[in-house]
Amino acid sequence: MSETNHQYSENYDKLIELREEVYNCKACSLATTRTKVVFGNGNPDADLMIIGEGPGANEDTSGIPFVGRAGKLLTECLEECNISRKHVFIANVVKCRACIINKTTNKNRPPTDEEINLCTPWLEKQIEIIKPLVVLSLGAPSARFMLNRKDIAMTKERGIFYKSRFSDNVIPSLHPSYILRNMYKDGDGGKSLLIKDIKSAISKVSELKGQVTENSEIITPNEVQMNIQTESKIDENKTDTNLKNDPTFGF
Ligand code: SF4
Repeated sequence: MSETNHQYSENYDKLIELREEVYNCKACSLATTRTKVVFGNGNPDADLMIIGEGPGANEDTSGIPFVGRAGKLLTECLEECNISRKHVFIANVVKCRACIINKTTNKNRPPTDEEINLCTPWLEKQIEIIKPLVVLSLGAPSARFMLNRKDIAMTKERGIFYKSRFSDNVIPSLHPSYILRNMYKDGDGGKSLLIKDIKSAISKVSELKGQVTENSEIITPNEVQMNIQTESKIDENKTDTNLKNDPTFGF
């Protein structure tokens, strides 16, 4: 087994172990209303981690982050940058759906500060295991947590790299749900900006991996994809816990 595969397997095993703990978490009241814990999904050895705010109804039902319309848009944006969900690890600040219980339908609400405080040690552990080179935070709540700031002006501050205690390279961007809400009134609602920020994140990964030469300032996403793919091969020797057979975690 190559060094890369060895590291990859280690991350995989650590995440599976952590996932079991998160699945049993009852630290906050969201445990009483959730259907499924949404741990996170993707490549355990990803160089790029994408972090949203928290699960909505579709995620709560499936246990998978960023499904439904917003998830479809995120997947589309990744594909426009020539990478896919299997090249990144996607997680949320809060792992269970925050909602207002209603007789007919439950309505999403933002998680409270207390819920965020109780839940974020799980995300911190995920970041500690995966050690992504770059973190793309989606939406203001995610950016606020990642940058430990209360005041984030997303329109002005997105697309810029910041240092935080989690990563030297955190780039805030627009949340796909925000883009969907704004699409009808403002051109593409910001989709092109999200794509731009994903491309910046990919270029930063390339730069950090030493792929930028004097003659090639811009690395094409295809090259990046190949590099991420090579670095992140699935350990085919895994049997009962093979990622490919694990829809909640794998791809
Ligand atoms: S939201 Fe987080 S802290 Fe609250 S029960 Fe779910 S996993 Fe635990």
